[in-house]
Amino acid sequence: MSESIEKIAELIVHSRRIVVFVGAGLSTESGIPDFRSPGGVWDKYDPQDFYFQRFLASESSREKYWQMATEMYEAMKDAKPNQAHLAIAELERLGKLDCLITQNIDGLHFKAGNSPDKVLELHGTAMHVTCLSCNKRYERDAIQGRIAAGDKAPRCDECKGPLKPATISFGQAMPARETQAAYDHSAACDLFIVIGSSLVVQPAAQMPLVAKQNGAKLVIINRDETACDAVADYVVSAQAGPTMAAVIERVRGATSVRD
Ligand SMILES: [Zn+2]
Repeated sequence: MSESIEKIAELIVHSRRIVVFVGAGLSTESGIPDFRSPGGVWDKYDPQDFYFQRFLASESSREKYWQMATEMYEAMKDAKPNQAHLAIAELERLGKLDCLITQNIDGLHFKAGNSPDKVLELHGTAMHVTCLSCNKRYERDAIQGRIAAGDKAPRCDECKGPLKPATISFGQAMPARETQAAYDHSAACDLFIVIGSSLVVQPAAQMPLVAKQNGAKLVIINRDETACDAVADYVVSAQAGPTMAAVIERVRGATSVRD
């Protein structure tokens, strides 16, 4: 494994346009439960209640949705970025990061220090709330304050439209701008690094292949096997945090020697 880490660090040092793609594995290493795992939130609720169409359909569905969303938010709002988040933020500071594509909704990349113009949130964010009628955006904490005060399905101050966390729900279209930008950056990079994703969800699974087909090197760091392992240049089957900490330490050493 340490040989792979050396090689990955070397690739980073010699690459000019790096795209990092991250998934749920990064969040679980920060103590955020995987909501789809047994014993998770989904076991207690009927997943059908969380389809976007149902959210639109009735006040009682919206109340159930907010009850579940509140529980999920409680589990993530105080989470701290781990070593992998910090390593990715350092890639940005070193001028190495072209773009970070994330499937996570917990906002930890921003807490780690990445800037909003570098991050594409494919599944939206739980840190904001939007009005489905006029698109007005609210801070999540402000709306959670209303929930705590007894409002079961909050509505927009401006237009009374239904408010929903700014996450992409089942049955809701992927954000068009972010998805297109993610493909464009994947096609144009020279190094694509997957961290903490098993690459099973579309369109995620396509992006490493798009990068590879356009000549990029592909690195995968994930605890379990992924669908793209066979075409990757380097695969590290390990936890993201310690692995990325070791990689970035070598990158730091190499870049300071060159300065
Ligand atoms: Zn509104």
